[in-house]
Amino acid sequence: NRRVILKRYVTGFPTEDDMEVVTGTVRLAVPPGSAAVLLKNLYVSCDPYMRGRMTKHDRPSYVPDFVLGEALLNFGVSKVIASEHQDLKVGDLVWGMTGWEEYTLISNPQSLFKISHTDVPLSYYTGVLGMPGLTAWAGFFDVGKPKKGEYVFVSAASGAVGQLVGQLAKLTGCYVVGSAGSDEKVNLLKTKFGFDDAFNYKKEQDLNAALKRYFPQGIDIYFENVGGPMLEAVLSNMRNHGRIPTCGMISQYNLEQPEGVHNLFEIVAKRLRVEGFMVFDYFSQYRKFEEEMVGYLNEGKISYIEDIADGLENAPGALIGLYSGRNVGKQLVAVARE
Ligand code: NDP
Repeated sequence: NRRVILKRYVTGFPTEDDMEVVTGTVRLAVPPGSAAVLLKNLYVSCDPYMRGRMTKHDRPSYVPDFVLGEALLNFGVSKVIASEHQDLKVGDLVWGMTGWEEYTLISNPQSLFKISHTDVPLSYYTGVLGMPGLTAWAGFFDVGKPKKGEYVFVSAASGAVGQLVGQLAKLTGCYVVGSAGSDEKVNLLKTKFGFDDAFNYKKEQDLNAALKRYFPQGIDIYFENVGGPMLEAVLSNMRNHGRIPTCGMISQYNLEQPEGVHNLFEIVAKRLRVEGFMVFDYFSQYRKFEEEMVGYLNEGKISYIEDIADGLENAPGALIGLYSGRNVGKQLVAVARE
């Protein structure tokens, strides 16, 4: 059972060397009479929040720290190859929390979702039809509360979550601008995902001036993925009663000393609603979301780009790449294609 383990806890920017691909000889068997299942992992997802689990916390975090020497854990798409669970049989396809390894024994499979739509690529269940898709949908609609005609700004806009937020905003009748870290990504936003406009934030000397150029009338909804200097520039460009669904702050995840945001009084003066959310709180709405998103995909209303690394040996590099923007679209790893 080949697996990717964490070798040491990380401070600062993670490197591939913090992880190791090892081959174990442990025999995995489903105990008779248990509710366990044995999964063969097909795809595993690379997600920015995994960085938090690579740090040793001295206080409780919203997700547990990874255990040194054990396979990293994250969402993936898997096939059931042995089962003692009444609702899951051999051959079923599922998505949910699994290991960064070839085979994973899940003793309590309650949190796995059975995959019934096989008319879309299976890998989509790590992204547009999985955790990041639900994040985009819940964060934009439930937290952002968009109205037709509003002005929407999305950061990390070409990534797993951002590309979907922008397209959902267009379907709602909003004006949407995205920022991304390369000209290739900016081009995708405008040509593939239908954003009204987009810019390369790495080429802007003054983010505040850039936002004034793209939003002369101001921003109603800022879908926050990055934090730091971008958040500070956005606060100065929000309209009264604007909303900031606060999804993530990837620019801060590897900093030992988080950056300060110096204009928080804008929240008061402009009566802004800045609201953090966690996708876990929306898992009960997954089936509703899935039907809606499968419909959009089949009708060609949503486009989707993924970046697939081949094999567990390339998984550490794929994960690290998220923090420098090496991924173009949703980053995942193909462990076994069937
Ligand atoms: P992406 O697919 O967008 O990959 C991460 C991207 O972040 C990179 O490609 C890069 O794009 C950008 N990035 C990396 N470092 C920086 C930096 N220092 N400053 C600005 N941008 C940077 O990831 P996801 O779509 O999966 O995640 C997007 C955000 O959503 C993250 O903050 C994540 O933590 C959060 N999230 C939150 C969830 C929740 O429940 N609240 C659930 C899922 C995700 P570029 O080249 O454009 O810089």
